[in-house]
Amino acid sequence: MSLKPGRVFSGARPTGRQHLGNYLGAIKNYVALQDEYECVYSIVDLHALTTLESTQDLRQNSYEMALDWLAAGLDPQKCIIFIQSHVPEVTELHTILSMVTPLGKLTDLPTFKEKARMHPHNINYGLVGYPVLMTADIALYRANWVPVGVDQAPHIEFSRETIRSFNFHFNTNALVEPQMKVTNVPKVLGIDGQQKMSKSLNNHIELAATPEETQQRVLSMVTDPARIRRTDPGNPDVCNVFSMHKIFSGSEEVEMINVECRRAGIGCVDCKKRLAKNMNASLQPFRDRRADFDSKPDQVWDILHDGARRATVIAEETMHDVRAAVGLAERD
Ligand code: SF4
Repeated sequence: MSLKPGRVFSGARPTGRQHLGNYLGAIKNYVALQDEYECVYSIVDLHALTTLESTQDLRQNSYEMALDWLAAGLDPQKCIIFIQSHVPEVTELHTILSMVTPLGKLTDLPTFKEKARMHPHNINYGLVGYPVLMTADIALYRANWVPVGVDQAPHIEFSRETIRSFNFHFNTNALVEPQMKVTNVPKVLGIDGQQKMSKSLNNHIELAATPEETQQRVLSMVTDPARIRRTDPGNPDVCNVFSMHKIFSGSEEVEMINVECRRAGIGCVDCKKRLAKNMNASLQPFRDRRADFDSKPDQVWDILHDGARRATVIAEETMHDVRAAVGLAERD
């Protein structure tokens, strides 16, 4: 029996190689939580099917994401890492939960409206039922906690209501209502300095990029727009390069830039080169670990398959209670 104070579940769509925004916004927190909680982390490949984009890359994207998670410090001895579709009970629970979910509630969700706007020619059932599948993920592993940023709070509220509704309808406590673990993660802007870092916007910096690629991306970062000439004083408070310096550079260098930028004592190119150098130094251990895992792909798949076996043990317990509560005939 675990001595940890509860179970955390989180899932992320397999988007392939991860970027700094993924790391600072989620993975870093995953790594911190694994020491304190019993953590279950899922690469949610079934969710990726809802928009039916380049599914031929799904397997490779799942593998690349696992590489990044492992290299960033997720430890299969401390947490469960697995691929969602390897535990098919989630689809059964999804079907059962869909019976207690009013359709209007799903179509009213802002995320559905946004997705429907983005994919007007493919508004399929999976897209509508996405939050129910997400709820099934959380409920199947009886998570007590779900780490979220403030903007994701409505999703978890939906899951909590759906689980409550199931338990009420079938007069059971088979499913656990999760709590939100709101994490104060920084909003990481992309190299455009405007929008959240995202692969689809191509404004990202991959964790596993080469030092040269990283430097190239950093050199193309948008800076304080008011600083047009080298001799113009700048304002680091509105510059994304400076925000990144605060993450990757030492305090003395950050303070030097803070002062020198304001009196045009340092140029933006020099400032960015310093950032690229510090970023590369900081990411190198990660890249080394990633290359090491990548040289042993069988080991990575073994970790994922073992994770699925451990996740299945929890899932089977939950489904046993769910089937009994619903009144489905027992399996042999
Ligand atoms: Fe930004 Fe650095 Fe240029 Fe100042 S010197 S505007 S902090 S890139």
